[in-house]
Amino acid sequence: MLATELIYDYFGVMSDRCNFPQLLAGHGVRPTPVRLAVLEILGEAEQALRTGEILKRLRTRRRVNKVTIYRILEDFTARGILRKVSLDDRAAHFELACEHHPPHPHFQCLTCREVQCLDPVPLSRMWAEIQGPLGNRADRIDIRVAGQCHKCREGQ
Ligand SMILES: [Zn+2]
Ligand SMILES: [Zn+2]
Ligand SMILES: [Zn+2]
Repeated sequence: MLATELIYDYFGVMSDRCNFPQLLAGHGVRPTPVRLAVLEILGEAEQALRTGEILKRLRTRRRVNKVTIYRILEDFTARGILRKVSLDDRAAHFELACEHHPPHPHFQCLTCREVQCLDPVPLSRMWAEIQGPLGNRADRIDIRVAGQCHKCREGQ
């Protein structure tokens, strides 16, 4: 398959909204309004979000307890619903880990700490190869690129 076909495939899948109640049911988790709101916020975000940012966005919609949200994020990560993108020890960033969001490399700005999701295509292929020939079981893959984002560069 040509690389361009893969890219179109990927964006085709991305444009479909995830079915969050179904996703939770598949993991044996009861779809409460708060749990669904966490997934919706991450589904709408174009980048991995840190806990504080998830909380801030949740609070525009409903009253939420910080500890509850921490617990939901850790529980979802342990179940493989979310992926924790840890680029440094300061703050974990979270993103959806469902079939529509395959593993991909990340870029972190060392000035504002924002984490951007990068094109997953070459990594997906690498992932498939890592899983395959040698009989290895790969559980996760992390590729991190650090630098300064365009917004911070313009602000200089
Ligand atoms: Zn999905
Ligand atoms: Zn920046
Ligand atoms: Zn990402």
